[in-house]
Amino acid sequence: MLIHLGMSGRLRVVSANMPAGKHDHVDFHFEDDQVLRLSDPRRFGSIHFSSDPVEAHWLLKNLGPEPLSADFSGEYLHHVSRHRRQAVKTFIMNAQVVVGVGNIYANESLYRAGIRPRNAAGRISKDRYVELERAIRSTLEEAIAMGGTTLRDYVGSDGKPGYFRQELFVYGREGKRCLRCETILKGIRLGQRATVYCPYCQH
Ligand SMILES: [Zn+2]
Repeated sequence: MLIHLGMSGRLRVVSANMPAGKHDHVDFHFEDDQVLRLSDPRRFGSIHFSSDPVEAHWLLKNLGPEPLSADFSGEYLHHVSRHRRQAVKTFIMNAQVVVGVGNIYANESLYRAGIRPRNAAGRISKDRYVELERAIRSTLEEAIAMGGTTLRDYVGSDGKPGYFRQELFVYGREGKRCLRCETILKGIRLGQRATVYCPYCQH
């Protein structure tokens, strides 16, 4: 069984007699009167059953490497980006290229690497992709470390990473000053996603 959490899916272990809320869709009952409950306010999640090896499932077989694994590198990003005209931000958010780089992390990583989000992926040099790879790793590692220390107190049910937000350089800060150079940060839409960058630090 494979559970896709979509954008807002969440699994919790609760008592079987806890009434289901509006966004609770599925309960898996255990023998000890506890249930694994799937909540999904936006309903992009799904549950799949298959007897094939899990890696062969269509949801997983075309996925790119994990960003914190040894398979992920600047050389790899450079290699797979050749001849791609799409924006580098859209490119790194594509799960077939690399998994787990959502919108917030893409914004933050590009800022740290000094790369403008709209630049064509296919025209970025290998050296700059090595910078970007490091930026993606450090951004994710810091987010995980912060989540690891504060997640216990984190009760947000909207799926938003409130525990990471206080450390963000650009995401959600359009119109404010860059923390490095004090230039006003610019906000644009890219692939329908909120995109913020510093016109001075990122080029
Ligand atoms: Zn700046």
